[in-house]
Amino acid sequence: MRSDFLIIGGGVVGMAVVYGLLRAGQKVTLLDAGDDVLRASRGNAGLTWVQGKGLGMPRYTELSLAASNAWPAFADELSERSGIDLEYHRQGGIDICFDAAEAAARISSYNELQASSPYLSRHFRWEYLDRQALLSHLPGLGENIHGGTWSPHDGHCNPLLLLRALLTGSRQLGLSYYPGCAVEHLSPTKAGFTATTPLGNFSAERIVVAAGLGAKALSPLLGMSGEVFPLRGQILVTEKMPLVPQLPTPQIRQTNSGSYLIGDTQEHAGLNRDATTDIMALLAARGVRIYPHLKNAKIVRAWGALRVMTPDGFPLYESSTTYPGAYNLNCHSGISLAAFHSNELAQALLRDQLNCEFSEFSSTRFSK
Ligand SMILES: Cc1cc2nc3c(=O)[nH]c(=O)nc-3n(C[C@H](O)[C@H](O)[C@H](O)COP(=O)(O)OP(=O)(O)OC[C@H]3O[C@@H](n4cnc5c(N)ncnc54)[C@H](O)[C@@H]3O)c2cc1C
Repeated sequence: MRSDFLIIGGGVVGMAVVYGLLRAGQKVTLLDAGDDVLRASRGNAGLTWVQGKGLGMPRYTELSLAASNAWPAFADELSERSGIDLEYHRQGGIDICFDAAEAAARISSYNELQASSPYLSRHFRWEYLDRQALLSHLPGLGENIHGGTWSPHDGHCNPLLLLRALLTGSRQLGLSYYPGCAVEHLSPTKAGFTATTPLGNFSAERIVVAAGLGAKALSPLLGMSGEVFPLRGQILVTEKMPLVPQLPTPQIRQTNSGSYLIGDTQEHAGLNRDATTDIMALLAARGVRIYPHLKNAKIVRAWGALRVMTPDGFPLYESSTTYPGAYNLNCHSGISLAAFHSNELAQALLRDQLNCEFSEFSSTRFSK
């Protein structure tokens, strides 16, 4: 069976697009490499977040806001189809400010963002709360916290269950799925594109490279930049603790099972994805500063994973001008944008309108 679309990469970006295309009735083949490659979708914090997105590019905030608004219906539909609860909650979120300087900078940047777009001035909602006001959102908050920004658009989910649900739902919709299938070469053909792999050649009319950090090697083969670099983040996981009704924060959040995830580091470490003792100590101290009751909590796990970063940190959605029908997709917040990728972005791919409808996100911005 020849597919309409060949998708390279089964991380959350590729899977969301796969799911959207299948729902639109397309025949889709997914090729995904093995556990030995870099996979941000299996190492992230699970936030569905709007705060802080798009500083310097208001269109990205608008996109994040649209994704946040689409998430509840997306989660309901996907859970119903797959039978998997994504542990998704959207009750708002807090981005903590540890001192007055951080608070002042945050307030100023959010004010500036709102002033830059009439849409955002109406729709992007946030508020600065001092420590006392934060206590009702973050019971147990430490004394040594200055405050934080609250926004109703933020939420969180279990990112591994999201990935599993997308795969389960996609298989039900007829996905042809080849795991452990690393693409070695991509080439244009008369009728579309061919991917060369150790399992043989796969062809389709159109092709989407959603290979995370693998884009750098693959996308230039089809005339696209795939301009991404790794930025490491580390996460500490505590033992299961009694559930407390606290809103999620980028710095720390409690999962449905009771574990706390403590993270939010941004490290230039090349392709090294180790967890390191210096950062683990820093994260543990920060976790206890936020929630002193964690002082005696046992750490049961720690990991490092590499973010997929573009030069300016904003999404990169490319259509090849050399080889029409080839696309490259990269972004730093694939969980937050999953509902958007599965809906509007998949629709734009289907109509071949990616660079018309989302021109701000093409690679031409890097050469300006
Ligand atoms: C520590 C950390 C915390 C994060 N927290 C959040 C968060 O809270 N919220 C949020 O929205 N985002 C978060 N992110 C970012 C998020 O994880 C990424 O945006 C997202 O996972 C990117 O998905 P992807 O599918 O593009 O890439 P990946 O997950 O890296 O997937 C790429 C896929 O391509 C495949 N591949 C690569 N090369 C080939 C090849 N040659 N042939 C075939 N397949 C190939 C790989 O097997 C892989 O499955 C975080 C990231 C990190 C590292």
